[in-house]
Amino acid sequence: MNRVRVRFAPSPTGFLHMGGSRTALLNWLFARHEGGSFVLRIEDTDRERSTPEYLNAILEDLRWLGLDWDEGPECGGDFGPYLQSERSGSYAPHVEKLLETGDAYRCFCSPEELEEKRSRAQAADGGWIYDRKCLGLSDDERDSLLAEGRPSVVRFRVPAGKTSFDDMVLGKIEFDNAELDDLVIVRQDGTPTYNFAVVVDDLEMAITHVIRGADHISNTPRQIVIWKALGHEPPTFGHQPLVLAPDKQVMSKRRGAIAVGEYRRRGYVPEAVVNYMALLGWSYGGDQEFFSLDELLQNFDMSRVSKKPASFDPNKLDWMNAQWLKRLDVADRTERVTPFLRAEGLLAETLEPEERSHLERVVELLDDRLKVLTDIVELAGFFLAPHVVYDKIAVSKVLAKPGADEILVGLHGVLSGCPDFQPETLEGAMRKFAEDAELSLGKVVQPLRVALTGRTASPGIFETLSLLGREVSLARIDAARGLAE
Ligand code: GLU
Repeated sequence: MNRVRVRFAPSPTGFLHMGGSRTALLNWLFARHEGGSFVLRIEDTDRERSTPEYLNAILEDLRWLGLDWDEGPECGGDFGPYLQSERSGSYAPHVEKLLETGDAYRCFCSPEELEEKRSRAQAADGGWIYDRKCLGLSDDERDSLLAEGRPSVVRFRVPAGKTSFDDMVLGKIEFDNAELDDLVIVRQDGTPTYNFAVVVDDLEMAITHVIRGADHISNTPRQIVIWKALGHEPPTFGHQPLVLAPDKQVMSKRRGAIAVGEYRRRGYVPEAVVNYMALLGWSYGGDQEFFSLDELLQNFDMSRVSKKPASFDPNKLDWMNAQWLKRLDVADRTERVTPFLRAEGLLAETLEPEERSHLERVVELLDDRLKVLTDIVELAGFFLAPHVVYDKIAVSKVLAKPGADEILVGLHGVLSGCPDFQPETLEGAMRKFAEDAELSLGKVVQPLRVALTGRTASPGIFETLSLLGREVSLARIDAARGLAE
């Protein structure tokens, strides 16, 4: 058997979403599992809607997910070019061949004429497929229309019979060719249509398996008949059921589909996104829920891809992200939160070793409060910002309460006098202060928490104090006292 070659063929007319990246992941896993090649082909023939920004975003998102390609943009390869727009020279010889064998013919019907026939048929009984009017043209008639300069398209002549294929995921699928239109393969302007360009590209790139979303199933018999007319065995096809939004409708931009880049900006980690996508409609067997890309590869089995559409559950993805964050070691987690803190101006471009270890301690202290990386700004901004941003409600509910100021004055004294600023020392001193003042520890802690962090919830107060250090803590108590007045 030929060495496996698969392709992922996005159109750069939009961002990469969950459905598309899941197709990329499946292709990547299949290629790697079989020791084959993963080809990235960019289907950018829609010149008006394709943009370099979308293309760059797609490449960046695939890289972020860890789905590296063996051939394609940037790395090149023996079967290039990999941008469909640069392959325009490839199609004409195949069209000529099909015209010669009679598997394709020129059609001079105008769009208006076709539209009128379609509307009439629809008004009568609904369905209409091209009536093959131009198939009946003699060579002379055709040549004189061409000589007149009449615009024409090239249509593929779909043979009678049935077309079936053994889908890698869905099993045997059969279509009656009578349902297939004599599809246009070359437009009036000479450009190939999607179904034709894909066949020629897949053929010339020696693709052995076409793995894509189930929205392409109806294209597959059309592509198979073209493959056969070109004198080649079609590749093996596999269609992955679609992803449904939580409301069970197909996911779309309006129905919960979020671009992969947006997940990155919102602070998801690629491990979680990949893991979630892999479990979305694939069963990996057993109880294991967490798989790195490597583990997915080791456990990969195409027959475990579900035949049924999968439902996207944003809460499950959030949960998985939080779990993955917990699994990262502190140094790694710190590394990953750094850009988000920088973007908020809370960190300098380069960190001194002691600043880095301070940040690591902060991240460690937050423990599993971090659900997405961006949470760091909200949860730890007060550690890094020069001044606390006080939450108005926290100020009025806690600092403005009778007795709060006395507590802050007392604590200022206690903290000034502590021999060191270790959490245990601080805890001992504050417990003693609460006892002497006949107050619960909670009562004492609450105004201090607001004074130090600006809010009513924070990580453990003794660790927080210790990490802020004496000087900052005392200055914040002073600042907060001013607020409550
Ligand atoms: N460019 C097509 C798309 O983005 C993919 C075509 C294919 O995989 O055959 O839907």
